[in-house]
Amino acid sequence: MRDKLVVGNWKMHGGLAQNDALLSDLRAGWGAPGRRRLAVCVPFPYLWQAQAALSGSAIAWGVQNVSEHASGAFTGEVSAAMVAEFGSTYAIVGHSERRVLYEETDKAVAAKAAAAAGAGLTPVVCVGETLSQREAGSTAAVVLRQLEPVLAHLGDGVASAVFAYEPVWAIGTGRNATPEQAQEVHALLRQRLGAAGSKVTLLYGGSVKASNAGALFRMPDIDGGLIGGASLKADEFLAIASA
Ligand code: PEP
Repeated sequence: MRDKLVVGNWKMHGGLAQNDALLSDLRAGWGAPGRRRLAVCVPFPYLWQAQAALSGSAIAWGVQNVSEHASGAFTGEVSAAMVAEFGSTYAIVGHSERRVLYEETDKAVAAKAAAAAGAGLTPVVCVGETLSQREAGSTAAVVLRQLEPVLAHLGDGVASAVFAYEPVWAIGTGRNATPEQAQEVHALLRQRLGAAGSKVTLLYGGSVKASNAGALFRMPDIDGGLIGGASLKADEFLAIASA
C-alpha cells in the first residue's frame, strides 16, 4: 500500500514573520496520522527557516525548482545539492507556471528531475494539459509526452519519484478536475510507469480544498495532492492533509 502524501507549494509567497506563524501552526497541528505524509515546498531563501522550524517534526520540506546543472557559471540558479544541504526532501520540477512563464521544455524538466534525484531529493514532477488541449481531446497525448523524457532520464530511479497531475486549467482557478477526470489520467500515468507504477506516488493538483480533497484522494490511483493557494492557510492545509 502506498502512503498518502500532501505537498504544499507556497509559490512566491511568504515573509519571515508570516512563515514563522504558518510553520509553527503546521508543526503544532500535524500528528502524522497513519500512513500520511506532509511537506511544504518553499521559496529558496526560506529553506533554512523551514529546516529550523520543522526539524524533528513529521513534516518534510523542499523547493519548487532546481537547476539541471550541478554547479558552474549559471547566474541566479540553485543546484539540487545546495537544496539538499538544508535537509530538504522534495523538489518540485516542471510546474506549469515554470513551463509556461519560463518556457521550460519537457527535456529541461526531465534533466531537473534527474538532477534532483542525483542529489538525493525526491523530484515531484508536474504534468498536465491546458484547457484547449483538453477540449481538443489531447490530454493523454500531452501528459504522456511530458512523462517520456522523465522516464528516460530517471531510469530505474522513477520508482522513487513523485508525479503530480496538474491540469493547467485547474491551477489557481477554483475549478478542480472532478475525481473521475483526475482518476482517468492517474490510471493512465500509472499504467505507463509499468513495473514501477504500483510503487510511484501520484498526486493531483489544481484547486484542491478541504471540501473537495476527500473525494479526490479516495480515488484508487490518487495518492494525495499538490496544493497551492490552500497550503498558505494552516487550518485548510491540515484539513486537506487529513482528508
Ligand atoms: C499548484 O500551484 O501546484 C496548485 C495546484 O495551485 P492551486 O492549489 O492554488 O490550484
